[in-house]
Amino acid sequence: MSRAVDFDGQVVIVTGAGHGIGRAHAFMLAEHGARVVVNDVGGAVDGTGSSPVAEEVARQIRDRGGVAVASTDSVATVEGGAALVQRAIEEFGCVDAVIHNAGILRDRTFAKLSDEDVTAVLEVHLLGAFNVLRPAWKHMVERRYGRIVLTTSASGLLGTFGQSNYAAAKAGLIGLMNVLSLEGPRYGICVNAVAPTAATRMTEGLLGELADRFDPRHVAAVATFLASPSCELNRHILTVGGGRVGRIFIGVTPGWYSGPEPASPDDIAASIEEICSLSDHIVPQSGQDEVALIQRVLGT
Ligand code: NAD
Repeated sequence: MSRAVDFDGQVVIVTGAGHGIGRAHAFMLAEHGARVVVNDVGGAVDGTGSSPVAEEVARQIRDRGGVAVASTDSVATVEGGAALVQRAIEEFGCVDAVIHNAGILRDRTFAKLSDEDVTAVLEVHLLGAFNVLRPAWKHMVERRYGRIVLTTSASGLLGTFGQSNYAAAKAGLIGLMNVLSLEGPRYGICVNAVAPTAATRMTEGLLGELADRFDPRHVAAVATFLASPSCELNRHILTVGGGRVGRIFIGVTPGWYSGPEPASPDDIAASIEEICSLSDHIVPQSGQDEVALIQRVLGT
């Protein structure tokens, strides 16, 4: 039976595919006909250490009849990102999609964060995206095709106590998505993000008795769709966990208009309810859409 989502030998890089959600992505992609580059350094949740998990996952995929190779390059460095993309091209000849999923945690309240807690987390999640996507992008632009899936988090978009480093990195990925999703379409490249909730070592003890419901495969189905040639979505953040799939978006309201003269702080205070009202919000597709909204409010 033919499937709507079929990779037909397309090449997909999955970062952080040795454990948890990334591992589920790798298996599901291979089951849907992708040739998968399973990337992972195999460290602990805090990013320390290394182990051969990438090779284990690649071997398990091959044992089930799929096509996969391993890469142990760290996405946290420019060299590692370049080597990962190079490995995919040398092994399979091209890169059709990248799912940037690698991640670590160094949770501390803001007062207790060390310099290393900040840089280590930004390097894997946010700089990791640049390190892998910059070489992959050049290649996708040449081929006039690509699918990119970033992994953000409710923590970054909505906030979680004790995760300032992680949340800033995850929100930064949405800034990156917003721009790449404007620059990509002329080259046939779509860029989207998933905000997952899944039972993995990263969430151990956090989901309580609901943990069984949060199989990482719920997330893998969404990421696999977004990475596939069937996906024509662009600039979407899909939130997924436990079988529920929804959308998170950034909205802008028309707000309150002071008139041509600058308002006083007292005017702002008096109008704060109208300023903060969510009525008639739009979901802009670029910064330009907010400019158009301002022009409408100003009657220009
Ligand atoms: P996980 O720890 O099981 O998997 C993360 C993987 O990334 C690990 O295998 C790790 O070795 C790998 N990794 C870390 N640093 C790397 C590097 N420098 N280079 C290559 N690989 C590296 O955690 P998970 O829960 O599966 O998380 C996957 C992604 O989903 C992460 O980006 C995480 O922030 C995000 N996320 C997870 C949840 C959740 O509920 N589990 C919620 C929101 C976001």
